[in-house]
Amino acid sequence: MRIDVITLFPDLFEPFTQQGVVRRAYDSGVVQLRLWQLRDFATGNYRRVDDRPFGGGPGMVMAAQPLADALAAIRSDRNEPADQQAPVVLFSPQGTTLTHERVSAFAAEDKGVIVVCGRYEGIDQRFIDRHVDAQWSLGDFVLSGGEIAAIAWLDAVARLMPGVLGDADSHGQDSFNAALDGLLDCPHYTRPETWEGATVPTPLLSGNHAAIAAYRRQQSLLATARSRPDLIHAARVAGALSKADEVILKASAPDSPI
Ligand code: SAH
Repeated sequence: MRIDVITLFPDLFEPFTQQGVVRRAYDSGVVQLRLWQLRDFATGNYRRVDDRPFGGGPGMVMAAQPLADALAAIRSDRNEPADQQAPVVLFSPQGTTLTHERVSAFAAEDKGVIVVCGRYEGIDQRFIDRHVDAQWSLGDFVLSGGEIAAIAWLDAVARLMPGVLGDADSHGQDSFNAALDGLLDCPHYTRPETWEGATVPTPLLSGNHAAIAAYRRQQSLLATARSRPDLIHAARVAGALSKADEVILKASAPDSPI
C-alpha cells in the first residue's frame, strides 16, 4: 500500500519507520511511505508556505498553492487511472476521530492515501474544499501539527498489515478486536511470579488452557465494564455476550443496570 504524506517536517517520520515491529512493514515494502517536503513547492525567495490570516487574528495559515502543487506532483508520480485516484486525507482536530474499526478497515482495503499534515492555525479552507476528501482526528484535543496524528495512525495501520506482526505478538488478541468481541484486553503478567509481594493470578500458572481462557475472558469483561461500559453495551447489542459473560458482569456489579 502506498501512502504519500505532505509535511513540513518529513524527518519526524523516519524514526517511527525504523524501529519496533512496524519496521518490517516499511522494509518489506508492504507499506510504501513517500514523504513530500511542502517547502519544496513554495515559490519566492523565502520559500514561504504560510501567510497571515485574512480578517486578522493570531498565527499563520498554510497557503493553498504550495499544497496544490505538492498534490499535483504526487498525483503525477502515482499515475493512477482517473477513477482510481487515492483519496486525500487531512489530519485535523475537526475530523472524524480514529478508532480501531476505521484503522482496520483502511488496512484491509489496501487503497492507499495521500495525507496532508497541517501546521500553524491550519490550512486555507479553499484547499480543503477543493481537494480534501476526508478529515481524520486523533482525538478532541489540539496538536501543534498533523504529523503526530499521522505517525500514530501509520503505526496503527502498519502493525495490522499482513506479515508485520509474528504469531507471538499477533494483534488479533488486542483490545477492540473481533476475537475479543470488541472488548478491552485482559491484564498481562510475566516473571517473576512474585514481585514486591504481589503474585500472579493462580489460573495463569495452572497450565490448564480452558481455565486460563476463562480467567482472561472474565478479566477482559471486568476491565471493559469498569472503564468502557459503552463497549460492553455494543458487544451485548451485537449478541456477542454469552450467558456466562452476563453472570460475570452481574456478579461484579449486582446493582448496575449494565
Ligand atoms: N486552528 C485549528 C487547529 C490547528 S492545529 C483548529 O482549531 O481546528 C495545527 C494542525 O495540527 C492542524 O492543521 C492539524 O493538521 C493538526 N492537528 C491538531 N490537532 C489535531 C488532532 N486532534 N488530530 C489530528 N490533527 C491535528
